[in-house]
Amino acid sequence: MRTLNLVQFRKFADRQIEMANRMLAMHRPGSGYFCSCGKELPCSVAAHTIAIRDHFKRKLALLEATVVLPVLAPPAKVRPASLWRRLFGGWR
Ligand SMILES: [Zn+2]
Repeated sequence: MRTLNLVQFRKFADRQIEMANRMLAMHRPGSGYFCSCGKELPCSVAAHTIAIRDHFKRKLALLEATVVLPVLAPPAKVRPASLWRRLFGGWR
């Protein structure tokens, strides 16, 4: 089995989505209870094509959401007693 790198997968997924959109253009609700391909609604081909398109859209969304974040310095330590005094010191 061949493994795709990120660029190859993006290209593959884009192509799959494009092909699904082309397929869906041939499966529109027609008049009455039938798809434009002649099958009864809901059209099983359209439903399967939508599922494939959504699958690749979700995969691409996950890839786009993966961003390398900068490493941040840990927060300065605050002693609990001084924080308590700062927050509630004026109540007395
Ligand atoms: Zn159809």
